[in-house]
Amino acid sequence: MTLWPPWKFLRWQDIVDISIVAYLLYRLLLLIRGTRAVQMAAGLAIIVVMYFVADQLKLLTLHWLLGTFMSSIFLVVVIIFQEDIRRALIHMGRSPFVKVQTEYSQVIEEVVKAVEIFAEKRIGALMVFEREAGLNEFVESGTPLEARVSRDLLVSIFNPSSPLHDGAVLIRENRVVAAGVILPLSTNPMIGRGLGTRHRAAIGITELSDAVAVVVSEETGAISLAVGGKITREISPATLRRMLSELLGFHSVEPWWRRRIFK
Ligand code: ATP
Ligand code: MG
Repeated sequence: MTLWPPWKFLRWQDIVDISIVAYLLYRLLLLIRGTRAVQMAAGLAIIVVMYFVADQLKLLTLHWLLGTFMSSIFLVVVIIFQEDIRRALIHMGRSPFVKVQTEYSQVIEEVVKAVEIFAEKRIGALMVFEREAGLNEFVESGTPLEARVSRDLLVSIFNPSSPLHDGAVLIRENRVVAAGVILPLSTNPMIGRGLGTRHRAAIGITELSDAVAVVVSEETGAISLAVGGKITREISPATLRRMLSELLGFHSVEPWWRRRIFK
């Protein structure tokens, strides 16, 4: 029996099936991009390979041990990623037509007001907005918080005499989830020498994830925005407001089929 031409054997259900699985995989990869999950997935892959090697070489005890572990792997995965799974489900349940725009526009307004103060007083600041890719692994490097974003909160955090002013603030939806967070520095050699570690950290996190980072320079008071590993320097508060609404507000105003993940 020949399997050619393939469309003779392809039912419409197969196409639907493959499309749904491909979409789910895509969302999953997007979700774990730039998080601990990537290393964990690599670790799990190694265990699976070891399991088959042990089977081939008849290493009975090792085979039994890994087999036992793998039979509960589903449970292990659910426990490790419970936070991410919860977030993913909430995300899925959201209608693409429901507007969460107002929520974000308030957050943006508070952030821009704080940034204006930082720029004027030359206070160094670094704020990272989480988007699709989870940034939970970085929360641990700082001080976890669960506080509504407001100008006063941000000003208090980045006040140079505050113990939390060093490092980055992590913003998830309308909450500051952590402050004093250490971010990975970009190693891109094309970045100008004029940019120090604060700006490199902003670029670094946007290389690893789809996050958006806002920086205010302590030295010059200049405002910059980084996304997708690229930084736009010396922007005005008005430009910052416009860019943030474009980058963060898109999933509410545009229906999902026209949405672009990276802008
Ligand atoms: P500025 O223009 O404000 O001076 P810069 O890009 O020149 O910024 P530095 O002068 O090196 O950077 O800024 C140092 C500050 O940047 C640190 O005090 C700290 O708050 C922050 N910072 C440095 N490295 C990191 C990092 N890996 N993650 C988060 N914040 C960092
Ligand atoms: Mg500096």
